[in-house]
Amino acid sequence: MNSDQHWRAVLGELELQMSQASFDTWLRDSRLVAFEDNVFIIGVESGFIKDWLDTRLRVTVERTLVGIVGRKTSVSFVVWPESGEAIDTPNKPIFPDVIASKNKNQQAALKERLYSLDNFVVGPENRLAHAASKAVSEKFDPAQSPLFLYGDVGLGKTHLLSGIKNACEEQGLNVQMLAAENFTNELVFSIRSGGAEMFREKYRSCDVLLVDDIQFFVGKKSSSEELLHTIDQMHSSNLQVVLTSNISLDSLIPLGRRLCSRIEAGLVVQITRPSYKTRKKIVWSKASTRGLDVTEDIVVYLAENICSSVRALEGAVNHLDARSRLLGQPASLSSASAATRQAVGSMSSSTPATSDHIIKIVASEFKVTSGELRGKSRARRFTAPRQLAMLLLKDTVGCSLSEIGALMGGRDHTTARYGCSKARELLSCDDIFKSKADDVRKILNKH
Ligand code: ADP
Ligand code: MG
Repeated sequence: MNSDQHWRAVLGELELQMSQASFDTWLRDSRLVAFEDNVFIIGVESGFIKDWLDTRLRVTVERTLVGIVGRKTSVSFVVWPESGEAIDTPNKPIFPDVIASKNKNQQAALKERLYSLDNFVVGPENRLAHAASKAVSEKFDPAQSPLFLYGDVGLGKTHLLSGIKNACEEQGLNVQMLAAENFTNELVFSIRSGGAEMFREKYRSCDVLLVDDIQFFVGKKSSSEELLHTIDQMHSSNLQVVLTSNISLDSLIPLGRRLCSRIEAGLVVQITRPSYKTRKKIVWSKASTRGLDVTEDIVVYLAENICSSVRALEGAVNHLDARSRLLGQPASLSSASAATRQAVGSMSSSTPATSDHIIKIVASEFKVTSGELRGKSRARRFTAPRQLAMLLLKDTVGCSLSEIGALMGGRDHTTARYGCSKARELLSCDDIFKSKADDVRKILNKH
């Protein structure tokens, strides 16, 4: 059997194991894009499906693959536009809870409700980013292109980007939104398969190009060059580009000075952590979206105790909501406290560390530079602290594996997963490593 047949056989097997609705939603339209280095690269049609498969089905898929291929292989899901039908076709549910729904308007409304510029809670920390997002979705202004939004994870960059996408699509504009990782995957594949022109045509001729998490391009020369040319060409055709990053433009210098100064010539806007007042507004807003009744003291409790990111705050509201539905009880202060513990984890401090902080502190404790920590060297004096930084980014900031990979020098999520498990292993068997890791945690807790 060749790899394509292997993948079909896996699909056949999974179809038997899963419910029909789940299989149809998540896997039916997937297809093998490439088989490289013992990795099945599987194209799916949207970021939602990719994330869902990554978090919920990867293990099952890999286990099924072993049974069929006869040896251990891994799977990597990528967004691949030609997989199946377009995302918005009426019978292609985007979210598991709308599997039964075949109504396009309902789905579109749900998507909009989730990520729109109108349900983005505005405070002094993100006001400019929100205003700029609204402005670029209303009309092209050369002084605002590219718009570059940066800030720590969980502060609303992807939300704003999706809000711009929705607002522009409502006006009938052709919008392309994708994660930097997918930009790279598509570029590499298009070059290999002789389709580079088609790739350029697709991304340079849309009305609005939105690229999320461009820190992923660090160390990926052809992607950053492609992005630079794309920005130039779109700018000269009065077309809008919006980029986001977890790290500042200064830290993006490895992308090349030309690209950085090109970005600097547009509009650069930082999003910082929400203040107490904004956090309260966010809790009210997230609770009311879910139809969850909360009292002022619950809102105050959550806003006082969760300062790391909006994502963590939202996680606590979700937890509270789930708890009160499951137990059939109204939300209370004690359930808010349980939800907070769940959302922030046991390692959080009153003012949580940022990803930049973690990288700097780990680097300095292990006497390497931040660049070396993010760099390519596989010498143990770099890999051990790199793995620790990955684990801390996961546990203290709540970064996803793809975000960790991107922050740590443009690695992919499988490397980040490996790094985190390796760090856990070192913590349990290497005393020197453990004692340095404890020092790092002490410093982080003081911040
Ligand atoms: P980032 O891309 O910066 O890591 P996200 O955009 O994914 O962060 O935001 C994480 C979660 O927090 C999302 O569910 C998003 O809707 C929510 N969120 C972030 N900022 C806000 C805000 N100002 N108002 C409402 N929701 C927000
Ligand atoms: Mg994001």
